[in-house]
Amino acid sequence: MLKQKKYEFWFCTGSQDLYGEECLNKVAAHSRKIVEELNKSGILPYEVVWKPTLITNELIRKTFNEANLDEKCAGVITWMHTFSPAKSWILGLQEYRKPLLHLHTQFNEEIPYDSIDMDFMNENQSAHGDREYGHIVSRMRIERKVVVGHFADPIVIGKIASWMRTAVGIIESSHIRVMRIADNMRNVAVTEGDKVEAQIKFGWEIDAYPVNEITESVDAVSASDVNALVDEYYDKYEILLEGRDPEEFKKHVSVQAQIEIGFERFLEEKNYQAIVTHFGDLGGLKQLPGLAIQRLMEKGYGFGAEGDWKVAAMVRLMKIMTADIKNPKGTSMLEDYTYNLVKGKEGILQAHMLEICPTIADGPISIKCQPLSMGDREDPARLVFTSKEGPGVAVSLIDLGNRFRLIINDVDCKKVEKPMPKLPVATNFWTPQPDMYTGAEAWILAGGAHHTAFSYDLSAEQMGDWANAMGIEAVYIDKDTKIRDFKKDLMLGEIFYK
Ligand code: MN
Repeated sequence: MLKQKKYEFWFCTGSQDLYGEECLNKVAAHSRKIVEELNKSGILPYEVVWKPTLITNELIRKTFNEANLDEKCAGVITWMHTFSPAKSWILGLQEYRKPLLHLHTQFNEEIPYDSIDMDFMNENQSAHGDREYGHIVSRMRIERKVVVGHFADPIVIGKIASWMRTAVGIIESSHIRVMRIADNMRNVAVTEGDKVEAQIKFGWEIDAYPVNEITESVDAVSASDVNALVDEYYDKYEILLEGRDPEEFKKHVSVQAQIEIGFERFLEEKNYQAIVTHFGDLGGLKQLPGLAIQRLMEKGYGFGAEGDWKVAAMVRLMKIMTADIKNPKGTSMLEDYTYNLVKGKEGILQAHMLEICPTIADGPISIKCQPLSMGDREDPARLVFTSKEGPGVAVSLIDLGNRFRLIINDVDCKKVEKPMPKLPVATNFWTPQPDMYTGAEAWILAGGAHHTAFSYDLSAEQMGDWANAMGIEAVYIDKDTKIRDFKKDLMLGEIFYK
């Protein structure tokens, strides 16, 4: 099982000593109170840690370097309570390497009309202190998030919470290790990519292992371990024999249970958090891992089919970014399969051969055992279900030869009109924003893949912020997308990210 680190975020307040000790005491008291309120809100997924007020070059530099080295610190939140001459921030910012949030807030919500005087003005001047600080961050071209509003406003705290998840994604990206037990599918272009560049940009380690090494780990799983897991499956899922002999059916399911255990042990032993397979390159495996991969994805592993390591890493990344969410709706690899083009009911049926994560399921999940119609193995057992309704985000990371691009599409997931009793795979169905026609046209113009990493629990903003932090282009296909403007976005990206 995958574990998540207990990250925290530092809260650093900027000021100066121009207004004396008394003013600085108030600054410290105010920032402590803000940190206390943020932590008490119950909205933030991670703790905020108060740091002493930053007023000198030396202290700013020291604090940022401590943040770099502190393994628990996933980012720094900065706020200028008074004026803080921004040249003091240059060295610290130059050396800082983690996610940065500029919280543009102030302690008082309302102007104290009856009592306001110049002392108050000098003490509470975020409106211009934060502009001075913002200027230097922009001048230094440092990627950061700016959140504006009163610190006690749940909307503002919600934005901080959302950024925290992105920040953890940025930090954790460099801990993602993808195991390739198969190469990219022959002749397929969009799932290919430059693995060295991916490590430079995203920190991902993408390594190959012979499929028969993992097969040995599968074969080593004892019959009693397999039987215990099969019992768990039979308790948890509906069994849809569909005319098959119950004993024969169970044997097929057992193969997947053995793969689940064997794969997980091998991944844990070698420290990998994502895996790719290929239906045409299965070595000694008896079935294409279906149910087994679905269960591993549910546990938080990333997965990409047909050797698609970019999707495997993205699914893992999105699992990390959503790990702390209470009652998540789910995150999975998906694939654009077939359209419904009936007017007013347009959408794309999402599925894969087998490997859809059950976290996105709505209602009962059943096990079926059916021929694969591709490859040359036994009929694989798989989990079958339909998915939840509601908004989600689908992303595709592509390699353009000289750089990466992340394509981000807001989609609306719906129920299909009728059951599909003959379709033996898990499905989702969505209409891309802004509509089926513009959405698909923009996706194709951008070069988006058929495989996607999808989540109900993340926003386009979070995924785009992650891409920007990685120094790659992000393009958005959403309710505001117009093809003419979208083509201009792509042209601008060609110039900017050259
Ligand atoms: Mn595929």
